[in-house]
Amino acid sequence: MTTINRFAPSPTGRLHVGNIRTALHNWLLARKAGGRFLLRIDDTDAERSREEYVEAIREDLAWLGMVPDGEERQSARLAIYEEAFDKLKAAGRVYPCYETAQELDLKRKIQLGRGLPPIYDRAALALSDGHRAAKEAEGFAPHWRFKLDHDEPIRWEDAIRGSQKFDAAQLSDPVIRRADGSWLYMLPSAVDDIAMGVTDVLRGEDHVSNTAVQIQMFTALGAAPPSFAHEALLVGREGKLSKRLGALGCDAFRAQGVEPEALVALLARLGTSQPVEPVADRDVLVGGFDLSTFGRAPARFDDEELHRLNTAIVHSLAYADVAARLPDGMDEAAWLAIRPNIEKVSDVADWWSIVTGPVAARGLEAEDKAYCAMAAEVMAETGDDWKALTTALKERTGRKGKALFLPLRLALTGMDHGPDMASLLPLIGTEQALKRLKGAAA
Ligand code: GLU
Repeated sequence: MTTINRFAPSPTGRLHVGNIRTALHNWLLARKAGGRFLLRIDDTDAERSREEYVEAIREDLAWLGMVPDGEERQSARLAIYEEAFDKLKAAGRVYPCYETAQELDLKRKIQLGRGLPPIYDRAALALSDGHRAAKEAEGFAPHWRFKLDHDEPIRWEDAIRGSQKFDAAQLSDPVIRRADGSWLYMLPSAVDDIAMGVTDVLRGEDHVSNTAVQIQMFTALGAAPPSFAHEALLVGREGKLSKRLGALGCDAFRAQGVEPEALVALLARLGTSQPVEPVADRDVLVGGFDLSTFGRAPARFDDEELHRLNTAIVHSLAYADVAARLPDGMDEAAWLAIRPNIEKVSDVADWWSIVTGPVAARGLEAEDKAYCAMAAEVMAETGDDWKALTTALKERTGRKGKALFLPLRLALTGMDHGPDMASLLPLIGTEQALKRLKGAAA
């Protein structure tokens, strides 16, 4: 059986680092199994869903290199939910309820006050047909609940959490449809998982009790439930579910110069027993993806760890990976020379402007000015060969180490640190370099 999974965001905002992680794990799982990774847009909430977020979700997935193998939209599938609803209604598995939000709230408060769990009391199930008709005559449209089967415990083998068991009587019959006819998340998701042949549901552990309910929905609709895995949530360095993480998305990462490969390398293994390493090769991450290595403790997201990984990834990027983002005229040799000295790709601009000049002259001591004048003479012979230049200067002056190299670096780049001069000098070119040495000597 082909593995089919789905990432199912609601387009009510941009993706944040937590749902990027869930998307990535689904993508990795599908790639490893040679299966299909679907994007399902959960847009049954017409009021809060926005087309701009649908676009943003697609763009973010593309930026992350996780292009889905198919896309579905719940708003285009309402008739299918209606059909499933009718089937459940005919089987007595959904029932109309007329309580107002205030009434339900009061019931909950009373239960809590008595030390009882706030489970829906099924009062609406006890209504007679006459009562219902009277409610409707008063103009009350019902909302609908799915009737859980209390007879058997709900069990599944969770690929991350192990054996799970729920007593359905400890859960409220979930509201699946509002009085205006619109759908809540629970039923459409189960219907789609069946219709789309989803074999593996991998999502956050905030969905564990939803899974218990949905397993009964699968069964009530005559389908075998898929495999489930619930991953521990992502928390900030401070150890809490933070608002900050909820707002941290691809646009922010991009603005910080974070490469998608760095984010992917971090999120692929964060919260697993596998080491977080600057792995830029997706095949390696795919090959090692294994739900049995996922821990049950919350995964800690640390910006500093991301930035460290990012720097390591930037240092490994090939010219072809970055060419489109480099300043005009910057070639492969320049990229390779400058690459070890930057933290993010956009940092190349500063070094490239040093190559192309002009560079700000640095005040040198008289002795070093004379040394630069001599360097200019030698360079007339050695050209842009740094080794030859410095070897000759060493012989002539007896200088070594810092005294030999630093004045030259200052004269040629205006900086006291930076890329390897042997690679940089040919980029600057003999003509420019001579001018800079002479300028420094003056
Ligand atoms: N739209 C749901 C969410 O974003 C999907 C959950 C699921 O994967 O079933 O939480």
